[in-house]
Amino acid sequence: MKRLFLLLFVLAAVQVSAQDLSHYKKIIKELSSEKYHGRGYALEGANKAGKWIAKEFTKVGADEVICQPFTHNINTFPGKMEFAVDGKRQTPGVDFTLREFNPSIKGEFKLYYVDMENYDAEKMFTDLALPEWEGAIVVCDFMFTFMHGADFKRMQTKEGCSNAGFIYTWEAPLKFYKAYGDKVSEKPIIWVTPDFPRDAKSVKLDIENEFLEDCECFNVIAKVEGKNHDKCYVFTAHYDHLGILGKKTYYPGAHDNASGTAAIITLAAHYAKHTPEYDMYFIAFSGEDANLRGSEWYAEHPVAPLSDIKYLFNLDMIGDNNANLYCEVSNEGMAGYPLFEEINSEKGYFNALDRAELADNSDHYPFAVRNVPCIFFMNENGDAFKYYHTVYDTWENAIFDFYEPTFKLIVDFVERYE
Ligand SMILES: [Zn+2]
Repeated sequence: MKRLFLLLFVLAAVQVSAQDLSHYKKIIKELSSEKYHGRGYALEGANKAGKWIAKEFTKVGADEVICQPFTHNINTFPGKMEFAVDGKRQTPGVDFTLREFNPSIKGEFKLYYVDMENYDAEKMFTDLALPEWEGAIVVCDFMFTFMHGADFKRMQTKEGCSNAGFIYTWEAPLKFYKAYGDKVSEKPIIWVTPDFPRDAKSVKLDIENEFLEDCECFNVIAKVEGKNHDKCYVFTAHYDHLGILGKKTYYPGAHDNASGTAAIITLAAHYAKHTPEYDMYFIAFSGEDANLRGSEWYAEHPVAPLSDIKYLFNLDMIGDNNANLYCEVSNEGMAGYPLFEEINSEKGYFNALDRAELADNSDHYPFAVRNVPCIFFMNENGDAFKYYHTVYDTWENAIFDFYEPTFKLIVDFVERYE
């Protein structure tokens, strides 16, 4: 009986060793922890995470690991982050977030509520030109600003209007972005939840930005040697995320994209143990949430010719529980797409593959436009998706159910693809 139990135990261990769920979870927990400061550029968060990832690739048996540096300009918020409404202190990430291009702002400000029911642009600009409203903060619903784009664009410049900045209400939980962080605007925009008071008198603000010029960061490139070196497979995932909002608030980014990063590290571990036919490259990109900067850099400076890539797999956000798997495929990648469908229907990994139009929404894109056969996998619109780009994208809220099917779908594909 004991022996049978032992045998079953060994069999189970062999079965799970291909895709190592506990290692996968451990990596996500590590990368989404506070010590990497949301894997942004303030406090070297992304770079600290990159160094850890490089070590991890070495640990799992990669034959070669290199860091590929690049620089970019990026706005950050490492300093003061104080916001009070009629004396009531607001919590960053929860009660308010910022636009990524905001400048610093400090002082006490009157609030000018835009009359959205009887909107009259002329009256609004006349009001705001009065001495009593000079330097006020304009409060409005974010969606409303799209309907009157030209007016709000005018207000955004110091020349166009005297207001000091904006407070826009938007749905909760509030999101934060990094994509337009390569500049600093004239006036700050603060996003607040719909329960922001409609009759507050004033706000106190002390928010500091720091614009980093030529900020150095790096992609981590690991290689597992195959039997043949004339072609290769490439597995990519970005490890950067949104960083911090002041000293106390950080964006953990467990689903986005510690999950994809963890998956490519465990894929490297798998291929290091089972020598593949072809060379395998595992690339953890930086700069993705800042507008695909790391993958763009790599695509222009590849360590192996892009024309040698048999297939590239990009994993961005796989820590959710939608039973359908979202994917985008490049033109050249379409030759392999029926094989993904065939494997999936044979093995039943997902209910279906949902293929969408190719878009510049993740790191496969710079490769797709350079004619590389590639696919982008994302698990979206499940229970974790509502936390996308919020402070709640934590290890606790990440979902691990679809790591194994995603892993197996890729490994099966590599095994069968000609
Ligand atoms: Zn992402």
